[in-house]
Amino acid sequence: MDSERYDVLVIGGGIHGVGVAQAAAARGHSVLVLERDRLAAGTSSRSSKLVHGGLRYLATWQFPLVRTSLREREILLRIAPRIVKRVPFFIPVYPTSRYGSLRLHAGLGLYSLLAGRGEQSRFSRLDPDEFGDLDGLRTDSLRAVFRYLDAQTDDIELTQAVMRSAKQLGAELRCPTRFLEARREGDHYRVTFEDGDRGTEQCIARVVVNAAGPWITQVLDRCHPVTKTHAIDLVQGAHLILPQRMNRGVFYVESIDDHRPVFVMPWYENTLLGTTETKFDGDPSQVSALPEECDYLLRTYRHYFPDHVDEPISSFAGLRVLPRSTKSANARPRETILIRDSKRDPRLVTIAGGKLTAYRATAQDVLDVLRPSLPDTTTIADTATLAI
Ligand SMILES: Cc1cc2nc3c(=O)[nH]c(=O)nc-3n(C[C@H](O)[C@H](O)[C@H](O)COP(=O)(O)OP(=O)(O)OC[C@H]3O[C@@H](n4cnc5c(N)ncnc54)[C@H](O)[C@@H]3O)c2cc1C
Repeated sequence: MDSERYDVLVIGGGIHGVGVAQAAAARGHSVLVLERDRLAAGTSSRSSKLVHGGLRYLATWQFPLVRTSLREREILLRIAPRIVKRVPFFIPVYPTSRYGSLRLHAGLGLYSLLAGRGEQSRFSRLDPDEFGDLDGLRTDSLRAVFRYLDAQTDDIELTQAVMRSAKQLGAELRCPTRFLEARREGDHYRVTFEDGDRGTEQCIARVVVNAAGPWITQVLDRCHPVTKTHAIDLVQGAHLILPQRMNRGVFYVESIDDHRPVFVMPWYENTLLGTTETKFDGDPSQVSALPEECDYLLRTYRHYFPDHVDEPISSFAGLRVLPRSTKSANARPRETILIRDSKRDPRLVTIAGGKLTAYRATAQDVLDVLRPSLPDTTTIADTATLAI
């Protein structure tokens, strides 16, 4: 029997995989997504759940990333108002803070400029009278508090919603189904995958997108011929969930150990606290918050919110895919890297790193790279305006 044929085969049902599926289906292509576990089983359920430009990336001059993310934030607020919500962020300044009021003022000014200077991108400095009404934030030696707006989401719901939209546009999902191997045969790949009930099957795809997150290297090892790849590091980030909810919004504080940013965020009825940066060498399926990461986060939380004596209810950790470097994880670029099998005739693209916030833009970039290998089609929808 002939194998099923698709224009685009996507490996991984995280935010990038479903984003590419939606974008490809919107451009009129036939698409199959393979997810071995469940949608958002990997990093896409273990993020900080922020839809943001990334204020701190301004300090490392990553302006294009911030601008794209801010644009995508606005698009998501429009097309997914049920899942992506604007939230106030508060940045307190103490004598020990790495960034003083002047630098923060300048950074927030630039952030607001990159966001387009609308009403919602304004920032302000709180009146000291309001310091006592900030969910118990430490006020002794508090010099200033800045307030600005960014957004929050539920990363699992967002991933599921994008996949639903992709399906409505004609994309297919096989889940749980594990990708096993891809072999280039002329102008297509022959892909082998395994479905628990149906056993091993094959299909033919004009192009393959490796969106396997922390497993991209394992997937690339099973693609033939071998693609020259970038050296990457996996860096884990832990979060804790605490019972006492932050009611005012997200607090953006500095770790008291190393000045790294730590977010204290309302999360449904609880508080989400994160994150860390710890080099990871094991099996990505086994990542979990380490005791020292929990201590690190709790030390910072209790320092800034001394009256909060609540103990964590649970914890989780996710893996960032970052370019290998001797620099600290915090200082490394967060731009998405697209690794292709061939410059002239690209048929396999691997997505390394990236942001939940920018998934839609990343999906467009992936399809633009693969355009020479895809048939001409009629676009049936625009993902920038399609409600999800
Ligand atoms: C700690 C942390 C906090 C973050 N916070 C934010 C944030 O607040 N805002 C933001 O914008 N970004 C954030 N990010 C970045 C963002 O979460 C990630 O870039 C994004 O979720 C990665 O999605 P992905 O689809 O590439 O990978 P994943 O979500 O990991 O998806 C990969 C999928 O591939 C599947 N898979 C693997 N192997 C196979 C196989 N052989 N066959 C079939 N399927 C397979 C896995 O099961 C998994 O579902 C954060 C990242 C981390 C680590």
